[in-house]
Amino acid sequence: MNETLGPLVLVVEDELQMARYMRTALIAHGYRVLEAGSGEEAIRRAVMQNPDLVLMDLGLPDMDGVQVIAQLRQWSTVPVIVISARDQESDRIEALDSGADDYLTKPFGTGELFARIRVAMRHRAAAADGEEPVVEVGDLRIDLANRTVTVREERIHLTRREYGLLATLAKNVGRVVTHRQLLKEVWGPQYLTETHYLRVYMAQLRHKLEVDPARPRYLETESGIGYRLKNE
Ligand code: CA
Repeated sequence: MNETLGPLVLVVEDELQMARYMRTALIAHGYRVLEAGSGEEAIRRAVMQNPDLVLMDLGLPDMDGVQVIAQLRQWSTVPVIVISARDQESDRIEALDSGADDYLTKPFGTGELFARIRVAMRHRAAAADGEEPVVEVGDLRIDLANRTVTVREERIHLTRREYGLLATLAKNVGRVVTHRQLLKEVWGPQYLTETHYLRVYMAQLRHKLEVDPARPRYLETESGIGYRLKNE
């Protein structure tokens, strides 16, 4: 990233009005903007110009945005935020499983857009540093190096699976992690459909971490999609 010039954002969008809206907002916030109106052009620009972040529409004239993300992911770890009019759970799950970092449904406000951009860029920067970070959310503190969890300064004992779930969410703090991704990470690839495991273990985690498990402050359910550790 060039600090003097601001992060370079590739906007992949075939609707001119939407592309213009995003370009104007990004430039006003100090970002530099590249544009692509098709999947093929998006891949070419990503290869040639190495953007710091990609905003990806799904409905493109030549291919589906999900295919573009899957191709990008073969060689790039650039953060990708999907921006789509599709609000079906299945579309969100498919995009996240293909390697998107986040998903924003049209219409959205610029405040929301820039909040998501900051989360995605911060997460990628932390991953690139290779540091074993301490993740703090309110009174919850997860030390990934020492595998310890405290709430309101009290040490919490977690089972291996509970810790695995919480650590996976903590490494993706602020972002939704799909059921599939959690099951693969914590239980293994042969357990991808066992979503009831997640319900059971999330209930246990909330019971241990939340003041009111019925109204969780830290562990948010994205209904039908996955879970998110809130980052504020
Ligand atoms: Ca479109």
